[in-house]
Amino acid sequence: MADPLPRLQALFEQERERFSAGRRVLSFDEYLTLLASAPERYTRDAARYLRDLFDHYGTTAVERPYGRTTRWKLFDLPWDDDAGRRDALVGHEQVQGEFYRAISNFARQGRVDRLVLLHGPNGSAKSTFVACVMRAMEHYATTDEGALYRYHWVFPRGRGGDASRIGFGAGVRPEDGPRAGESYAHLDEGAVEAKVLCELRDHPLLLLPVGVRQALLREVLGPDADARVPVELWKGGPCHKCQQVFGALHTAYRGDLRKVLAHVQIERWYVSRRYRVGAVTLGPQMAVDARERQVTASRSLAALPASMQYTALFEPSGELVDAAGGLIEYSDLLKRSLEHWKYLLLMIETGEVALDTSNLVPNLVLVGSSNEGHLDAFREHPEYASFRGRLDLVRAPYLTDWIAEKSIYDAQTQASEGRHVAPHATELAALFAVLTRMKRPAAERYAKPVASLAADLSPLEKADLYARGTVPSRLSGEQTRELSAAIGALYRESDVYPNYEGRTGASPREIRGVIADAGQHAGYRCLSPFAVLERLAELCTRVSEFDWLRQDAVANGYHDPKYFLRVLRERLAEESEDEFRTATGLVDEARYVETFERYVHHVSAQIKGEKIRNRLTGRDDPPDESMMKDIERNVGATGTAEEFRRNVISRVAAWAIDHPGEKVPYATLFPNHLQRLKEVFYQDHRRQVALLTRELLVLTREEGAGLDADARRRAEGNLAALKTRFGYCDHCAADAAAMLLKDRFADPKVA
Ligand SMILES: [Zn+2]
Ligand SMILES: [Zn+2]
Repeated sequence: MADPLPRLQALFEQERERFSAGRRVLSFDEYLTLLASAPERYTRDAARYLRDLFDHYGTTAVERPYGRTTRWKLFDLPWDDDAGRRDALVGHEQVQGEFYRAISNFARQGRVDRLVLLHGPNGSAKSTFVACVMRAMEHYATTDEGALYRYHWVFPRGRGGDASRIGFGAGVRPEDGPRAGESYAHLDEGAVEAKVLCELRDHPLLLLPVGVRQALLREVLGPDADARVPVELWKGGPCHKCQQVFGALHTAYRGDLRKVLAHVQIERWYVSRRYRVGAVTLGPQMAVDARERQVTASRSLAALPASMQYTALFEPSGELVDAAGGLIEYSDLLKRSLEHWKYLLLMIETGEVALDTSNLVPNLVLVGSSNEGHLDAFREHPEYASFRGRLDLVRAPYLTDWIAEKSIYDAQTQASEGRHVAPHATELAALFAVLTRMKRPAAERYAKPVASLAADLSPLEKADLYARGTVPSRLSGEQTRELSAAIGALYRESDVYPNYEGRTGASPREIRGVIADAGQHAGYRCLSPFAVLERLAELCTRVSEFDWLRQDAVANGYHDPKYFLRVLRERLAEESEDEFRTATGLVDEARYVETFERYVHHVSAQIKGEKIRNRLTGRDDPPDESMMKDIERNVGATGTAEEFRRNVISRVAAWAIDHPGEKVPYATLFPNHLQRLKEVFYQDHRRQVALLTRELLVLTREEGAGLDADARRRAEGNLAALKTRFGYCDHCAADAAAMLLKDRFADPKVA
């Protein structure tokens, strides 16, 4: 084995270089040079820092059936590895946008005047949201753009036997202390007698007297500097302790600011959730989050100027202090009684927290979370009205887009690396969760044609409308267009209701539990959709635990768990059959698209009064009327043929205008028509698919007993296609085949 030592030495050297390249320690003068190089960057408060952090990672436009939204990339944790990215925030683009708006307001005003309160049902990713922001802060703080600086006071040990230069222990004379241009910032640790920290991580510029500071800021930022820096940086001051140290040095050096600043060591700092630096989360059990204690009998005291040794020096501590310069999260804020957190609102009002001997002015963004029940109770509180203005309420509902919800559970199953995850297992779980959250549309809120379409929507149809943008196949072309255009309005309908869609329903926590249990099911080798359905049915019996199981069922299946389970079973059977049919290759998808394309071609020629070149005979023939009628019958066309044909052509033409030169995607433009064509074609082949499914079951469950060579080869080919195209394994393919033979192919017409 190679000697690891040289390699280790090289790593040490790299680490040392990284340390100095990171410009971790600076004198005050060096800091001013840095400040002048990027004045906006180095004059930020916590709110501006957070806003810049959002901007730093940028946004991406997300197209959903219910509209275009803006997603803030930081919530995808792009700097992290694959495993880390599983903690990303799924969906919630609206929450992101509102949080950004809140911090942008603070940044513009130059002060934080509200607590951002995320409210929603239990388990709606409020803490995941904040955790993502905090992780982004940790990463951003390591970049040049996100560099953060704090300061310490440094008192040197005597040099060359010069006792008078030992800190201040021997009593200092103004001619002692630092020489012109000297700084103690870079002293070796051995030459430092004492260091006094600023626990609040005050901005270094706060050390400059207000007049000097403002002149400097005008110098680097221009004459409108007062409008361009946070209020506290413009006219505030350092914390009480730093004020005391500053005052003592200032007196000792008879007002020579340069000598005072020679004691200042600026150091880069990094946000850390683990060590509670600039990012702190507090549970509801905490009571006091800021306190102070007197600094006694420490070496640092002996090194301070004589005048200070008779002053009681207090240092603040607590979570508000730990979070200084960054973000503090109060989870379940309203779970505490108002008495326990009223001071926070007062702090926001006045900008400071009163401690025993001093007032604390922490530079912080505050975010809280609450479930809807606690917020409702708080709204009834007599003092609510007076505090409402100090809260920025941001609603965080459950997701109602099942495709987004599914990715939460996909991340979970990837992380657990247990059994094979069968197709549809997480999909069914996500669909179930979303179905429990669906509200029946209030038809009276929509104009005429949409009103009745909305009233007829079942929860599953509504869920598919949101996630896939697909309308029920029972609708006509005209209705399809009307409803498609109304998806955004349906999705946002309940935004203004106190009982909005996404407030009540199964929590992702419960569904995660269901998936974890299903993954242990003794009857299956995979995480099976059948096991998920079983566990969901069990969940539905726990009526006393969940309010979403106690809602009155309304028309079309809303709030009806029995309906949810039934449609999920049907859905699973339909999709499995579709996959088996595709895997057998009996019904080629390209074929019905081609057929429809040919139909459009003939219709177009007919409308224009043109003929069509017959490829076989080379003659120009009129459009094939019987073929067109056939297709119209197969897709279930409504209205007159002429109307129907004009509609089809105008949709194709409209699409072509928007996408010149591109191939028309008939499958997405006319999904229902193509679905029906496919079904008609399939009728002829269903018996064969049933036969092939039986062969596949014999192959996987009985090692192919009794299959002849051809049948075995066919079954093997079909199994391989199920694996590569749809992600089955031997076990879950067998499970699905058994279900299909029992539920779908048991019909005597088929079997
Ligand atoms: Zn301080
Ligand atoms: Zn499997």
